[in-house]
Amino acid sequence: MADFKLTGGCQCGAVRYTITEPAVDTHHCHCGICRKLHGAIFVTLSTFPRSGFKFDQGASNLGTFNSSEKLHRHFCKTCGCQLTIDVDSAPDKIVVATGTIDNGADPGHPRQTLRHAYVNSKVPWYEIGDKLPQQP
Ligand SMILES: [Zn+2]
Ligand SMILES: [Zn+2]
Repeated sequence: MADFKLTGGCQCGAVRYTITEPAVDTHHCHCGICRKLHGAIFVTLSTFPRSGFKFDQGASNLGTFNSSEKLHRHFCKTCGCQLTIDVDSAPDKIVVATGTIDNGADPGHPRQTLRHAYVNSKVPWYEIGDKLPQQP
């Protein structure tokens, strides 16, 4: 995977990161916490090996919100962009808000991981129109 490289960052550009290993998972999260924090009816999240992720700038400009005891969400203090999530149970991984990857680049996840999660929390007026697996 020597050639794999993604760059990304927040909306205002204060926080920038580089990723050099492909994602192990990408899914659409319909949970109520992501909905409020991202201001979107569902949020796409990609999980990467932490060994391939680094902040190039702005790490000190990150705020942290612990949406649960074991889930630490990091956002840009300047523009409010939700960027990454640290999960205590998986310290060797980092969850990245997929939409913060530059130019909509492909996170490189195995295709079969793509799914809808927490669909029981989905907004009732939005009907999922694709054939991806749905987890309750
Ligand atoms: Zn920002
Ligand atoms: Zn969620």
